[in-house]
Amino acid sequence: MFTLAIVGRPNVGKSTLFNRLVGKRLALVDDQPGVTRDLREGTARLGDLRFEVIDTAGLEDATDDSLPGRMRRLTERAIAVADASLFLVDARTGLTPTDREVADLLRRSGHPVLLAANKSEGQAAEAGFLEAYELGLGEPLALSAEHGEGMAELAAVLRPLI
Ligand code: GDP
Ligand code: MG
Repeated sequence: MFTLAIVGRPNVGKSTLFNRLVGKRLALVDDQPGVTRDLREGTARLGDLRFEVIDTAGLEDATDDSLPGRMRRLTERAIAVADASLFLVDARTGLTPTDREVADLLRRSGHPVLLAANKSEGQAAEAGFLEAYELGLGEPLALSAEHGEGMAELAAVLRPLI
């Protein structure tokens, strides 16, 4: 089955989106010991679409210095196992250096990438949404994983890939 990896630095809303797509309310990724801790897979339902989705985690303990390196390794793993990546950035905080590094890696990989600016509900997200264009990954989707906004648009861009 088509597999989509949700990638992005900590706190952009990856697990919130995973839970919405998979339908589980709890994403206690940090509390699960063992080797499956940093990649969690489930079957997503989005309208009539069904696909596998991977939540990348395990970065939350990283110190500031090690985050870019860990992001790079995790993104490389996600690229290796998934058919496409959904790269989430946070429209409320705007871009960070780590976002830009991950974007460079994704762009160079040639792996199919969908860019989404999460937390896009409300006016506080407008500047961050526009900033996402700077990543050179095409037009960002405006999502709100928490409020369920942008899900039809996400389905529309995924449909031709699946
Ligand atoms: P992850 O570290 O990327 O997996 O991020 P989480 O899914 O754990 O979310 C981090 C924080 O962002 C949590 O407090 C969420 O409730 C919040 N969050 C997630 N999605 C949204 C959204 O669409 N809008 C807003 N305002 N907050 C969100
Ligand atoms: Mg998470």
